[in-house]
Amino acid sequence: MAHYEILIVGGGPAGYTAALYAARSGRKTAVVEKLSPGGQMATTSVIDNYPGFPDGVDGFELGEKMEQQARKYGAETIYAEVTGADLAAVPKVLTTSEGEFTADAVILATGAYPRELGLPGESELRGRGIAYCAACDGMMYRGKVVAVNGGGNTAVEDALYLSKLCQKVYLIHRRDSLRASAVYHKALEEAGVEILWNSRVTELRKEKRLTGIELENVVTGEKSQLACDGLFVAVGRVPDTALFAGQVETDGAGYLVADESCRTSVPGVFAAGDVRTKALRQVITAAADGASAAHWAEEYLLKRV
Ligand code: NAP
Repeated sequence: MAHYEILIVGGGPAGYTAALYAARSGRKTAVVEKLSPGGQMATTSVIDNYPGFPDGVDGFELGEKMEQQARKYGAETIYAEVTGADLAAVPKVLTTSEGEFTADAVILATGAYPRELGLPGESELRGRGIAYCAACDGMMYRGKVVAVNGGGNTAVEDALYLSKLCQKVYLIHRRDSLRASAVYHKALEEAGVEILWNSRVTELRKEKRLTGIELENVVTGEKSQLACDGLFVAVGRVPDTALFAGQVETDGAGYLVADESCRTSVPGVFAAGDVRTKALRQVITAAADGASAAHWAEEYLLKRV
């Protein structure tokens, strides 16, 4: 069973920044990652708002570079799926598909994934009409008719983004007012986005790809059909914290409660990136968390001695 001073779960920008800082301060460090470096960022074709890249940067490439930079200072990557954790134990134990690992401090950087609607056919249509990120997949719908489901900031930003590419954009929301910031309301109107209020998607229509959706008006119960080439689901995100449930304090939505120091309710356990309670979830804020979490993990290790 290998032992590390700092073990990081999740290889997105938070995880690899934490690995860079931890390894660079001389700590025996590893990232446990189930797929490839970059996490959710790796699915974004162009990241325009990460400083230092005036022409934007490919998310997959940025993930690989972050891994390389951490590796340069000695951080290892264990390609494995974490299946269990004992975070209160001394040392802390992570059970993975590649065996057990122990650590003095653990940084949880597992991110969050888009909530699904849970409709029949949703998984099989992913990439063939169903999408969860306009910035990632919007280009595939250039000149097409699309719908965005949701009423929060993500849904509205997605609708505005798509309105620049698509022939027609509908915004489907289950209530009669948006959750999104008021600043966006006028922008939607100006962009020509048609809002279908009090509506929920009840069925996905398909041939080889999505061809349309069935809607239900939640007030009148009336059903209607909407032909569209794409449905962007933007109904919130789900933090990837199920494995740590009951061990680390979470908020009502399941995010790991931690302030800017990234310290969780469990001594020696830190939360970094999208999985942490915070207002703005971006690559830059995830990377910032990674640095912070490694700093406070270092402080924790020094105090233990
Ligand atoms: P969100 O704010 O939680 O909004 C989710 C939206 O989806 C809500 O309108 C909700 O409806 C709807 N919804 C939830 N479950 C649904 C279901 N099963 N079926 C249909 N509709 C459903 O999530 P988000 O938009 O992803 O934003 C997450 C956080 O990131 C927020 O704090 C947001 O402000 C922030 N964010 C900020 C920016 C920015 O500042 N530029 C951009 C994006 C996101 P109800 O309104 O009826 O609950």
